[in-house]
Amino acid sequence: MPIRLYNTLTQTKEDLQTVVPGRVGMYVCGPTVYSFSHIGHMVGPVIFDTIKRYLVYSGYEVTWVVNITDVDDKLIQRVQAEGATPADMAARVKALAETVTADYLDCLKALGVDGIDQMPRATEHIPGILEITQGLIEKGNAYASGGDVYFDVTTDADYGKLSHRDFEELEAGARVDPGDKKRNPGDFALWKGSKPGEPAWDSPWGPGRPGWHIECSAMSMKLLGPHFDIHGGGLDLVFPHHENEVAQSECYSGKPFATYWLHNGLLTKGGKKISKSDPETIVEMRDLLARHQPDTIRALLLSSHYRRPIDYSNDRLDELDRALRGFRTFFDRFERITGQSFYSLNASSQKTAGAEFPDEVSDLRRQFLDAMDDDFNTGGALGVLFDLLRVLNRYADLQQLDKPPVDAAVQARFVAGVVTLRELAGLLGLFREPSKSAEADSGDRLTGPLLDLLVSLRTSLRKSKNFALSDEIRDRLTELGVILEDGAGGTRWKITDR
Ligand SMILES: [Zn+2]
Repeated sequence: MPIRLYNTLTQTKEDLQTVVPGRVGMYVCGPTVYSFSHIGHMVGPVIFDTIKRYLVYSGYEVTWVVNITDVDDKLIQRVQAEGATPADMAARVKALAETVTADYLDCLKALGVDGIDQMPRATEHIPGILEITQGLIEKGNAYASGGDVYFDVTTDADYGKLSHRDFEELEAGARVDPGDKKRNPGDFALWKGSKPGEPAWDSPWGPGRPGWHIECSAMSMKLLGPHFDIHGGGLDLVFPHHENEVAQSECYSGKPFATYWLHNGLLTKGGKKISKSDPETIVEMRDLLARHQPDTIRALLLSSHYRRPIDYSNDRLDELDRALRGFRTFFDRFERITGQSFYSLNASSQKTAGAEFPDEVSDLRRQFLDAMDDDFNTGGALGVLFDLLRVLNRYADLQQLDKPPVDAAVQARFVAGVVTLRELAGLLGLFREPSKSAEADSGDRLTGPLLDLLVSLRTSLRKSKNFALSDEIRDRLTELGVILEDGAGGTRWKITDR
């Protein structure tokens, strides 16, 4: 069965047909690095990491690009709120971007997102951005206005094709505000003139910085070519971000941009979208990783079909923690029976060896691969993994594998079945390495609350002007790799080396 994927552009499921046979170029919109990662930031990376794993398994050579937006109004607003002056603003934006990017990379690593081939920064692609902007002006698709440059949406007959919006209808009710530099309400900025002190680059239209949409066009076309295979991102990006990317890229290159547009559902908490503007919905990754195994978080993000919303709750995570513990218990059992570690099994040997494992196992393997072929249904595939665990435990029970001596052929079949489990779990990026011991596990669960407690004690000490002791707490924590950051909203801790 070929891989089929749902394309937002055509609103149908299509067979995967790549621009270059055997190769896939995939671009996924990354974060704007102005605050520490929350779990919502991890949805796309975990889903597309799993998609990449499956494409590679299916024989494709995949190049996956995720960008970092490291200059944007949000970064500027944040450093301004923290007291940046025109003299130090550019440096503080840069420092903020670096700190938040490092945190993002730590979170990706913890969740096993290791398939990203390139992570370009917007600020490294200014020449490409200027070139496209200039090209669009020359073609009559864009115009300079008061230090800014805008894309004129009325020049693109296809505008609206990705989000399936009737552009004329959109424009009918809207009007350009007096004093606005745009010609049409739907026009969007390719280049923004900057105010004194803001990060700025020279351009033919005066000092400024790129608009958000153009960054993604410049980086994707530069690294993957004007026409590539898969463009991904959250459902909330379809309009206007991706619509604008398509418009400016295709008007510039004269070629189709991405063939397939894949959009993942968003994470909700108690039915509400996780969003910075609603602090109650925010679950920061550093807190979550202090309390749960990374596999649990990864499994949560893969537990439904990627286009559907995922509802986050502590109960759901606890439930998944328990369910996944069943796998760890089984891996221990496997090691007792065979003397081999589950983690040392080489899953790739099986495909060529054609091992004879029980029929039930091979049926389940087929079901797993069918689910993944059908628009990467990771939720279905995860369900099959649980079925496989039950089958293997039952086989071990029935064959009394825990009581030696065990018939060598029976044991070989068992091992072959477990190799299948290793192979399929690896496709979801689960159980890549041994979990920490139960003790470390409970230690981990305490880390977050204990650090919160130390921070609050230190805050009290500072209030009572006991700076010697409060500084000692900070210094001793630094020695342990825990950094305290004092800010307007209080003190935050961050574990730097784990
Ligand atoms: Zn983007």
